[in-house]
Amino acid sequence: MSWLIDGKTNGPALSWPDGKRIAVMVTFDYDAEFLRISRAKNKGTSIGFTDYSRGQYGPHEGLVRCLDLLDTVKIKSTFFVPGIVGETYRDTVVEIARRGHELACHGYMHESQRGISRDEETRILEKSEAVLESITGKKPLGHRGPESIIHPFTPELLLERGYLYSSSMKDCDWAYFWEKDGQVLPLVELPCDITMDDFTYYYFTFSDPAVRSMYTNREVFGNWKQEFDALALEGNKIFILKLHPQMIGRASRIGMLGELISYMQSQGAWITTCEEVARYVLKHGGDKK
Ligand SMILES: [Zn+2]
Repeated sequence: MSWLIDGKTNGPALSWPDGKRIAVMVTFDYDAEFLRISRAKNKGTSIGFTDYSRGQYGPHEGLVRCLDLLDTVKIKSTFFVPGIVGETYRDTVVEIARRGHELACHGYMHESQRGISRDEETRILEKSEAVLESITGKKPLGHRGPESIIHPFTPELLLERGYLYSSSMKDCDWAYFWEKDGQVLPLVELPCDITMDDFTYYYFTFSDPAVRSMYTNREVFGNWKQEFDALALEGNKIFILKLHPQMIGRASRIGMLGELISYMQSQGAWITTCEEVARYVLKHGGDKK
Protein backbone atom coordinates (compact mmCIF):
# COMPACT_ATOMS: atom_id res chain seq x y z
CA MET A 1 0.00 0.00 0.00
CA SER A 2 1.14 3.55 -0.54
CA TRP A 3 -0.34 6.91 0.27
CA LEU A 4 0.56 10.56 0.41
CA ILE A 5 1.36 11.88 3.85
CA ASP A 6 0.26 15.47 3.60
CA GLY A 7 -1.26 15.92 7.04
CA LYS A 8 -4.77 16.20 5.63
CA THR A 9 -5.75 13.08 3.76
CA ASN A 10 -4.27 10.28 5.81
CA GLY A 11 -6.36 7.14 5.70
CA PRO A 12 -6.87 7.43 1.95
CA ALA A 13 -10.32 7.95 0.48
CA LEU A 14 -12.06 8.06 3.84
CA SER A 15 -13.28 10.86 6.07
CA TRP A 16 -15.18 10.36 9.31
CA PRO A 17 -18.79 11.52 9.71
CA ASP A 18 -19.66 15.13 10.52
CA GLY A 19 -16.08 16.23 9.95
CA LYS A 20 -14.82 14.30 12.97
CA ARG A 21 -11.03 14.19 13.01
CA ILE A 22 -10.62 10.74 14.51
CA ALA A 23 -12.54 7.53 15.21
CA VAL A 24 -11.97 6.18 18.72
CA MET A 25 -12.83 2.66 19.84
CA VAL A 26 -12.50 1.89 23.54
CA THR A 27 -12.26 -1.90 23.37
CA PHE A 28 -11.90 -4.58 26.03
CA ASP A 29 -10.41 -8.05 25.79
CA TYR A 30 -12.38 -9.84 28.51
CA ASP A 31 -9.92 -12.68 29.00
CA ALA A 32 -10.14 -13.33 32.75
CA GLU A 33 -7.63 -16.05 33.71
CA PHE A 34 -7.58 -17.58 30.23
CA LEU A 35 -5.04 -15.15 28.79
CA ARG A 36 -2.33 -16.39 31.13
CA ILE A 37 -3.53 -20.00 30.85
CA SER A 38 -3.19 -19.94 27.05
CA ARG A 39 0.19 -18.26 27.18
CA ALA A 40 1.50 -20.82 29.67
CA LYS A 41 0.15 -23.65 27.54
CA ASN A 42 2.16 -22.36 24.59
CA LYS A 43 5.27 -22.60 26.76
CA GLY A 44 4.40 -26.08 27.95
CA THR A 45 3.77 -24.89 31.49
CA SER A 46 0.78 -24.02 33.63
CA ILE A 47 -0.02 -20.85 35.56
CA GLY A 48 0.38 -20.38 39.26
CA PHE A 49 -2.10 -19.16 41.80
CA THR A 50 -1.11 -15.51 41.36
CA ASP A 51 -1.85 -15.31 37.65
CA TYR A 52 -5.03 -17.33 38.08
CA SER A 53 -6.28 -15.11 40.85
CA ARG A 54 -5.27 -11.88 39.14
CA GLY A 55 -7.13 -12.94 35.99
CA GLN A 56 -10.25 -13.40 38.07
CA TYR A 57 -10.04 -9.80 39.22
CA GLY A 58 -11.65 -8.96 35.86
CA PRO A 59 -14.97 -10.75 36.37
CA HIS A 60 -14.94 -10.37 40.16
CA GLU A 61 -14.18 -6.67 40.39
CA GLY A 62 -12.84 -4.81 37.36
CA LEU A 63 -15.62 -5.43 34.86
CA VAL A 64 -18.35 -3.65 36.77
CA ARG A 65 -16.16 -0.57 37.10
CA CYS A 66 -15.57 -0.62 33.33
CA LEU A 67 -19.30 -0.96 32.63
CA ASP A 68 -20.23 1.78 35.09
CA LEU A 69 -17.65 4.12 33.56
CA LEU A 70 -18.97 3.47 30.04
CA ASP A 71 -22.47 4.33 31.28
CA THR A 72 -21.20 7.47 33.00
CA VAL A 73 -19.46 8.81 29.89
CA LYS A 74 -22.29 7.50 27.68
CA ILE A 75 -20.28 5.54 25.15
CA LYS A 76 -20.70 2.05 23.73
CA SER A 77 -17.76 -0.32 23.58
CA THR A 78 -16.71 -3.57 21.95
CA PHE A 79 -15.84 -6.51 24.20
CA PHE A 80 -13.79 -9.32 22.67
CA VAL A 81 -14.84 -12.37 24.67
CA PRO A 82 -13.37 -15.91 24.51
CA GLY A 83 -16.14 -18.51 24.40
CA ILE A 84 -14.94 -20.12 27.63
CA VAL A 85 -15.37 -16.78 29.42
CA GLY A 86 -18.93 -16.60 28.10
CA GLU A 87 -19.52 -20.00 29.71
CA THR A 88 -17.55 -19.59 32.95
CA TYR A 89 -18.74 -16.05 33.69
CA ARG A 90 -21.93 -16.11 31.67
CA ASP A 91 -23.91 -13.70 33.86
CA THR A 92 -21.26 -11.01 33.46
CA VAL A 93 -21.21 -11.36 29.67
CA VAL A 94 -25.01 -11.20 29.62
CA GLU A 95 -24.69 -7.95 31.58
CA ILE A 96 -22.20 -6.52 29.05
CA ALA A 97 -24.69 -7.21 26.26
CA ARG A 98 -27.64 -5.93 28.32
CA ARG A 99 -25.91 -2.57 28.67
CA GLY A 100 -25.74 -2.28 24.88
CA HIS A 101 -22.12 -3.13 24.15
CA GLU A 102 -20.93 -5.22 21.23
CA LEU A 103 -19.66 -8.75 21.81
CA ALA A 104 -16.97 -9.94 19.39
CA CYS A 105 -15.06 -13.17 18.91
CA HIS A 106 -11.73 -13.77 20.66
CA GLY A 107 -11.11 -17.52 20.43
CA TYR A 108 -12.72 -20.21 22.54
CA MET A 109 -9.96 -21.04 25.03
CA HIS A 110 -8.05 -17.87 24.05
CA GLU A 111 -6.02 -20.08 21.68
CA SER A 112 -2.88 -18.19 20.75
CA GLN A 113 -0.74 -20.98 19.33
CA ARG A 114 0.75 -20.54 15.88
CA GLY A 115 0.52 -22.99 13.04
CA ILE A 116 -3.00 -24.34 13.52
CA SER A 117 -4.93 -25.62 10.51
CA ARG A 118 -7.89 -23.99 8.81
CA ASP A 119 -10.11 -26.79 10.13
CA GLU A 120 -8.90 -26.21 13.68
CA GLU A 121 -9.62 -22.50 13.46
CA THR A 122 -13.05 -23.23 11.96
CA ARG A 123 -13.90 -25.40 14.96
CA ILE A 124 -12.69 -22.68 17.36
CA LEU A 125 -14.83 -20.08 15.61
CA GLU A 126 -17.88 -22.36 15.60
CA LYS A 127 -17.64 -22.97 19.34
CA SER A 128 -16.99 -19.32 20.16
CA GLU A 129 -19.75 -18.00 17.94
CA ALA A 130 -22.26 -20.44 19.46
CA VAL A 131 -21.57 -19.16 22.97
CA LEU A 132 -21.84 -15.49 22.01
CA GLU A 133 -24.93 -16.12 19.88
CA SER A 134 -26.60 -17.87 22.83
CA ILE A 135 -26.21 -14.60 24.75
CA THR A 136 -26.97 -11.95 22.13
CA GLY A 137 -29.16 -13.90 19.71
CA LYS A 138 -26.88 -13.04 16.80
CA LYS A 139 -23.53 -14.09 15.45
CA PRO A 140 -20.54 -11.86 16.23
CA LEU A 141 -19.43 -9.59 13.40
CA GLY A 142 -15.93 -8.85 14.65
CA HIS A 143 -12.85 -10.89 15.50
CA ARG A 144 -9.61 -10.25 17.32
CA GLY A 145 -7.08 -13.06 17.47
CA PRO A 146 -6.02 -14.03 21.02
CA GLU A 147 -2.72 -12.18 21.56
CA SER A 148 -3.56 -10.71 18.12
CA ILE A 149 -2.45 -13.95 16.46
CA ILE A 150 -4.21 -14.79 13.21
CA HIS A 151 -3.25 -17.15 10.40
CA PRO A 152 -2.84 -16.75 6.62
CA PHE A 153 -6.32 -18.16 6.01
CA THR A 154 -8.08 -16.24 8.81
CA PRO A 155 -9.35 -13.18 6.86
CA GLU A 156 -10.95 -15.36 4.18
CA LEU A 157 -12.43 -17.62 6.83
CA LEU A 158 -13.92 -14.66 8.66
CA LEU A 159 -15.45 -13.35 5.47
CA GLU A 160 -17.01 -16.73 4.69
CA ARG A 161 -18.53 -16.77 8.15
CA GLY A 162 -20.15 -13.37 7.77
CA TYR A 163 -17.75 -11.19 9.73
CA LEU A 164 -17.46 -7.49 8.91
CA TYR A 165 -14.12 -6.79 10.49
CA SER A 166 -10.91 -8.04 12.06
CA SER A 167 -8.85 -6.19 14.67
CA SER A 168 -5.55 -8.02 14.97
CA MET A 169 -3.03 -6.17 12.82
CA LYS A 170 -0.62 -3.48 13.98
CA ASP A 171 0.59 -2.13 10.67
CA CYS A 172 -0.98 1.31 10.42
CA ASP A 173 -3.20 3.93 12.05
CA TRP A 174 -6.24 3.71 9.83
CA ALA A 175 -8.94 1.28 8.77
CA TYR A 176 -8.40 -0.64 5.55
CA PHE A 177 -9.82 -3.49 3.50
CA TRP A 178 -8.20 -6.89 3.24
CA GLU A 179 -7.50 -8.16 -0.23
CA LYS A 180 -6.73 -11.49 -1.86
CA ASP A 181 -5.15 -12.07 -5.26
CA GLY A 182 -5.53 -8.39 -6.10
CA GLN A 183 -9.22 -8.36 -5.21
CA VAL A 184 -10.50 -6.14 -2.43
CA LEU A 185 -12.46 -8.12 0.16
CA PRO A 186 -15.41 -6.63 2.06
CA LEU A 187 -13.60 -7.26 5.33
CA VAL A 188 -12.34 -4.25 7.28
CA GLU A 189 -9.18 -4.33 9.35
CA LEU A 190 -9.09 -2.11 12.43
CA PRO A 191 -5.44 -2.27 13.53
CA CYS A 192 -4.35 -1.60 17.08
CA ASP A 193 -1.02 -1.79 18.85
CA ILE A 194 0.46 -2.67 22.23
CA THR A 195 1.14 1.06 22.62
CA MET A 196 -2.55 1.36 23.48
CA ASP A 197 -2.74 -1.89 25.48
CA ASP A 198 -3.04 -1.65 29.28
CA PHE A 199 -1.04 -4.89 29.78
CA THR A 200 1.98 -3.12 28.32
CA TYR A 201 2.02 -0.70 31.23
CA TYR A 202 0.43 -2.52 34.14
CA TYR A 203 1.48 -6.17 33.98
CA PHE A 204 3.78 -6.96 36.87
CA THR A 205 5.81 -10.08 37.38
CA PHE A 206 8.87 -11.16 39.31
CA SER A 207 9.85 -13.79 36.79
CA ASP A 208 8.30 -13.62 33.33
CA PRO A 209 10.93 -13.29 31.94
CA ALA A 210 12.36 -10.76 34.38
CA VAL A 211 11.07 -8.42 37.00
CA ARG A 212 8.90 -5.73 35.46
CA SER A 213 7.49 -2.76 37.27
CA MET A 214 4.38 -0.78 36.47
CA TYR A 215 3.96 2.63 34.91
CA THR A 216 2.12 5.28 36.86
CA ASN A 217 -1.35 6.29 35.76
CA ARG A 218 -0.02 9.73 34.85
CA GLU A 219 2.56 8.20 32.53
CA VAL A 220 -0.04 6.03 30.82
CA PHE A 221 -2.46 8.94 30.51
CA GLY A 222 0.32 11.05 29.01
CA ASN A 223 1.30 8.42 26.45
CA TRP A 224 -2.27 7.77 25.34
CA LYS A 225 -3.22 11.46 25.23
CA GLN A 226 -0.18 12.28 23.12
CA GLU A 227 -0.98 9.47 20.71
CA PHE A 228 -4.60 10.61 20.48
CA ASP A 229 -3.68 14.28 19.97
CA ALA A 230 -1.15 13.49 17.25
CA LEU A 231 -3.49 11.17 15.33
CA ALA A 232 -6.38 13.63 15.62
CA LEU A 233 -4.14 16.35 14.23
CA GLU A 234 -3.24 14.19 11.23
CA GLY A 235 -6.93 13.46 10.62
CA ASN A 236 -9.11 10.50 9.55
CA LYS A 237 -7.12 8.01 11.60
CA ILE A 238 -8.33 5.51 14.19
CA PHE A 239 -7.38 5.24 17.84
CA ILE A 240 -8.13 1.92 19.51
CA LEU A 241 -7.60 1.33 23.19
CA LYS A 242 -7.12 -2.37 23.95
CA LEU A 243 -8.03 -2.80 27.60
CA HIS A 244 -8.53 -5.69 30.00
CA PRO A 245 -10.96 -5.42 32.94
CA GLN A 246 -8.42 -7.23 35.15
CA MET A 247 -5.86 -4.46 34.47
CA ILE A 248 -7.68 -1.19 33.76
CA GLY A 249 -10.43 -2.11 36.23
CA ARG A 250 -8.40 -1.13 39.30
CA ALA A 251 -10.06 1.81 41.06
CA SER A 252 -7.37 4.39 40.33
CA ARG A 253 -6.88 3.30 36.74
CA ILE A 254 -10.55 3.45 35.81
CA GLY A 255 -10.52 7.06 37.00
CA MET A 256 -7.62 7.79 34.65
CA LEU A 257 -9.49 6.13 31.77
CA GLY A 258 -12.55 8.23 32.50
CA GLU A 259 -10.42 11.36 32.41
CA LEU A 260 -9.00 10.33 29.03
CA ILE A 261 -12.40 9.52 27.52
CA SER A 262 -13.80 12.84 28.73
CA TYR A 263 -10.83 14.62 27.17
CA MET A 264 -11.34 12.85 23.83
CA GLN A 265 -15.04 13.72 23.93
CA SER A 266 -14.17 17.37 24.60
CA GLN A 267 -12.01 17.28 21.45
CA GLY A 268 -14.93 16.09 19.32
CA ALA A 269 -13.72 12.53 18.70
CA TRP A 270 -16.13 10.01 17.18
CA ILE A 271 -16.21 7.37 19.93
CA THR A 272 -18.15 4.25 19.08
CA THR A 273 -18.02 0.47 18.60
CA CYS A 274 -15.83 -1.41 16.16
CA GLU A 275 -18.96 -2.66 14.41
CA GLU A 276 -20.18 0.86 13.74
CA VAL A 277 -16.81 1.98 12.38
CA ALA A 278 -16.54 -1.14 10.21
CA ARG A 279 -20.04 -0.53 8.79
CA TYR A 280 -19.09 3.07 8.02
CA VAL A 281 -15.90 1.98 6.24
CA LEU A 282 -17.78 -0.66 4.25
CA LYS A 283 -20.36 1.92 3.17
CA HIS A 284 -18.05 4.82 2.43
CA GLY A 285 -14.98 3.00 1.19
CA GLY A 286 -11.37 3.30 2.10
CA ASP A 287 -8.08 1.96 0.98
CA LYS A 288 -7.13 -1.65 0.46
CA LYS A 289 -4.26 -3.52 1.99
ZN1 LIG B 1 -7.05 -11.70 24.90
